[in-house]
Amino acid sequence: MSESPPPPVIVNDPVEIAPGIHVISDGRVPLVPNVGIVEGDHSVLVVDTGMSPASGAKVLGHAQEIAGDRPLVLTITHFHPEHGFGAQVFKGVAPIVYNAAQREELRQKGAGFIELFKSFGETVAKEIEDVVLTDPDIVYDGASAEIDLGGRTARLLTWGVAHTRSDQIVFLPEERVVFGGDLFETRMFPIVPWFPPDETDVDGSKWIEVLGAILEFDPAVVVPGHGEVTDAGLIRDVRDYLAWMREQTGRQKAGGADADAAAAAIEPLALERWSTWENPEWIGFAVRSFHARA
Ligand SMILES: [Zn+2]
Repeated sequence: MSESPPPPVIVNDPVEIAPGIHVISDGRVPLVPNVGIVEGDHSVLVVDTGMSPASGAKVLGHAQEIAGDRPLVLTITHFHPEHGFGAQVFKGVAPIVYNAAQREELRQKGAGFIELFKSFGETVAKEIEDVVLTDPDIVYDGASAEIDLGGRTARLLTWGVAHTRSDQIVFLPEERVVFGGDLFETRMFPIVPWFPPDETDVDGSKWIEVLGAILEFDPAVVVPGHGEVTDAGLIRDVRDYLAWMREQTGRQKAGGADADAAAAAIEPLALERWSTWENPEWIGFAVRSFHARA
């Protein structure tokens, strides 16, 4: 017997994880992200919105309560629905900042992802039905942008394709806090959205490099896209998993195994090695993505 998961809506209150840095935790509810609210002296940055206008409104309410008279700015870690499809309630209230590649990806794939998520069942379909895909107000080209919040600068950084076409992290250099989107999740198998032929903008090898680049910043507090706030050990764990997966898949492919055979061989090994992680369905997707690129 399986219980149906709680509805994919943001319900938790913000928790201050460092002075002026708040997280609305996902409570480990599927299709709910961790959301960040970062205070500066004159502006307040919101990181991700949840999947729906209802979740976006909840986030906006918390952010406005924390910000008081200070204006808000919104940024999104990547275009996946549960991270940014609540953005419409911020339009006209707070400028939305995004990198150019993710805007393109949102424009190309947003409508398809709404349809895909509607197929996840009635609760999700109902939650996502009122979404209006919302373009950012400010777009940056290239690898990084900085937002001066007043006494605190938020660095927005991307290295190109990894979990999506151009995942963006938010890094706060003084406290060494990183918001990583779905580049890492606590206590679950990394989400490798490899759905050819429609969705192939995921690259495990580049992802490994991106995680290495983030570790160079020596983050002290790590806010994953999903799961508990933790430390840099998580980033190393995910990097180790992806590197192990690449090696295992390469070996299987070199021995003549097709993707299905490779997945069947590797899955039990991964389950044994990462026995405390949830969402084992992502193991097979990881194998297939590495197999296609090996
Ligand atoms: Zn994602």
